[in-house]
Amino acid sequence: MNILVTGGAGFLGANLCQRLLNEGHQVTCLDNFFTSARCNIDHLRGRKGFTLVEHDVIMPLPAVDTPERIYHLACPASPPHYQDDPVYTARIAFEGTLRMLNFARKTGARMMQASTSEVYGDPDAGHHPQKESYRGNVNPHGIRACYDEGKRIGETLCFDFIRRENTDVRVVRIFNTYGPQMHPHDGRVVSNFILQALQGKDITLYGDGLQTRSFCFVDDLIEAFVRMVERPTPAGQQPFYGPVNTGNPVEFTIAQLADLVIELTGSKSKKVFLPLPKDDPLQRKPDITLASEKLGWEPEIALREGLQKTIPYFAGLDLSQFIAPTMHTAHASCNLAV
Ligand code: NAD
Ligand code: UDP
Repeated sequence: MNILVTGGAGFLGANLCQRLLNEGHQVTCLDNFFTSARCNIDHLRGRKGFTLVEHDVIMPLPAVDTPERIYHLACPASPPHYQDDPVYTARIAFEGTLRMLNFARKTGARMMQASTSEVYGDPDAGHHPQKESYRGNVNPHGIRACYDEGKRIGETLCFDFIRRENTDVRVVRIFNTYGPQMHPHDGRVVSNFILQALQGKDITLYGDGLQTRSFCFVDDLIEAFVRMVERPTPAGQQPFYGPVNTGNPVEFTIAQLADLVIELTGSKSKKVFLPLPKDDPLQRKPDITLASEKLGWEPEIALREGLQKTIPYFAGLDLSQFIAPTMHTAHASCNLAV
């Protein structure tokens, strides 16, 4: 198939492109490198079937091969990245998704929308683990809102296109994921802790370290994407559009994650405690019953094993090829003019 992956140079996108190329598909990666380094897809360039289109997803699309599938991932994802230019983030989440939905409508392509657990915000008591039916507790004015509300309106657009335009869109809500091809400076907890441990620096726990997350290894997540998009629809039934939670339901405190990283790297780093960022969710864990029922999917790779696969990736990186998030601002601000 011809498959278009927006955000294909990023962490999840690069892993997805690789998987699709391995399966023999023609893969077009559309990306403007807003939050990824060019070297992140060095291993894909030159591979048979791989095409890179450098483009901003909020701008009119250039000519590309008519796709049968679109995986729409383009959006900054880590808090320092998406908070770096919040208006641009909100535009990418709304305008970029609208543009890709229109493209899917016109071409008849089936599209996957990369939504997020952030649509649940900081879940209220009684909604842990989070089920798809929970409507969330998002602060619409907070520093995470550009992303959280952007992803919520993204889902709204998807379901309006399904209802009004008969577009086939599959919505996955992704929970914290980690693995090779993560950006080393994107400030996410797994990348921060591994790099700090490898460099013998202090491990920075925000708050008391007792907030929880559940961490999914990237190969497990990509398997869920493909199952969601390729799920056959029984005759006479509607496709399963979702939204569906995709993530690993095993919950860890951030302090437990720090201890595990220290152990696996054999580091002498010490844990230090820094202030908890505003609106930082205290608990997060997916209920994946729906994914298990509809897709026959459950993650297979435990955190210890996934970290053992991820640590060598960070140990082998040439960090000079990656710029820090705040350096993107000059690039992005030009897009404020509508
Ligand atoms: P990432 O930042 O590594 O990748 C995003 C990619 O999109 C980058 O290559 C970036 O350059 C590109 N991009 C950003 N804005 C763009 C634009 N305007 N035009 C074209 N390309 C643009 O992030 P990721 O972790 O790979 O996340 C991919 C998707 O999955 C995002 O939509 C994110 O919201 C979602 N998601 C990820 C996680 C996670 O744990 N990684 C969790 C929830 C949701
Ligand atoms: N965190 C931390 N130290 C870090 C980076 C993150 O303690 O160096 C915490 C952060 O406050 C949050 C959790 O780890 O509670 C997960 O953060 P991340 O940015 O990876 O993802 P998200 O908050 O979007 O789940």
